[in-house]
Amino acid sequence: MTPRIFNFSAGPCTLPLEVLEEAQAELLDYHGMGMSIMEISHRTRFFEPVLYETLDLAKRLIGAPECFTPLLLSGGASVQFAMSAMHLLDENDEAAIINSGVWANKAWLEGNRIAIMHNIWNGADHQFLTLPNDEALTIPKNARYLHVTSNETVDGLQFPQLPKVDVPLVVDVSSDFYTRAIDWDRCALVYGGVQKNLAPSGLSLAFIHQDFLPPKRKRLPNIFNYQEIAKMDSMYNTPPTWQIYMLNLGLKWLEKNGGIPHFHALANKRSAKLYQAIDSTDFYQNTIDKRYRSTMNVVFKTPSDALDTRFWQEAEQQGLYALKGHKLVGGIRASIYNALPDSAVDALIAFMTDFANENKI
Ligand code: PMP
Repeated sequence: MTPRIFNFSAGPCTLPLEVLEEAQAELLDYHGMGMSIMEISHRTRFFEPVLYETLDLAKRLIGAPECFTPLLLSGGASVQFAMSAMHLLDENDEAAIINSGVWANKAWLEGNRIAIMHNIWNGADHQFLTLPNDEALTIPKNARYLHVTSNETVDGLQFPQLPKVDVPLVVDVSSDFYTRAIDWDRCALVYGGVQKNLAPSGLSLAFIHQDFLPPKRKRLPNIFNYQEIAKMDSMYNTPPTWQIYMLNLGLKWLEKNGGIPHFHALANKRSAKLYQAIDSTDFYQNTIDKRYRSTMNVVFKTPSDALDTRFWQEAEQQGLYALKGHKLVGGIRASIYNALPDSAVDALIAFMTDFANENKI
């Protein structure tokens, strides 16, 4: 077999080897059933324990209080951009959003199709190099909530703390899920796609506060109604059983390895090492406000676009995969999610040093 490469992909991305091996071992014969878990009905004594265990584990590991209901939802976080607004807002209701980068912008555009979503802070005015502090945020009088993107996957920006404002928060935590504690007392809804830190893509995990379970919108299809889905324990319709099974394995792996406290410290340590490697030479540049640099997606540039391209191409030849920056921003991006081994970060830093020495102008 080809040895496993170091995968810096922004998602879908590297999964823990142990999880892949366990899934492989059970693939053809799940617990002596003579079939795979993908082939078993969701309403059976075989799948239901996986689902309930996943919901419990997800809630326990992230420390969500009793008043929050965990939900497993089909589709990525983009579905939640629309679904959260559809559930929480009627047509003429208002909410606010911080336009912190590429993903917040998408959430804003979707929200605006559904109700009135005020963009109260525009990162474009700051070249997407910084984030607002609480004093910079003025919440419109009628806003029911503030939408926040805790980590901007493309731009490499992260809120070290969630904003403290007078309205509840709806938070997209897709790209720093299970790497940070959540200020639950400020949140109405926390959602994220699972494909960065937990499982394969196509599944979202959300936690909704009980006060927000009844939908605000009068004519809302059940399939977009968190309360209806909660009533059915996330089995309103056929759930993505394979992803839920993989999430189950991923959460157990996360717990075994020390849970959020461990992965929070790990993200801080590894991103600090990378930023140190960037800042210690004039060759690499990351111009993001240091207070808001992401601990998950480290973006940087070399002195030219041509060298950026050479960087990720040569890196790939050396087994350092998917370092090309997002097409909207260019440059280089290292996504250092939970399952990436430490040795990958060390190998990247060694490569960065060699590359800078060989290509100094
Ligand atoms: N929010 C954030 C912060 C993301 O990084 C992404 C995906 N990269 C999304 C939302 C959208 O996720 P999906 O493509 O799975 O819908």
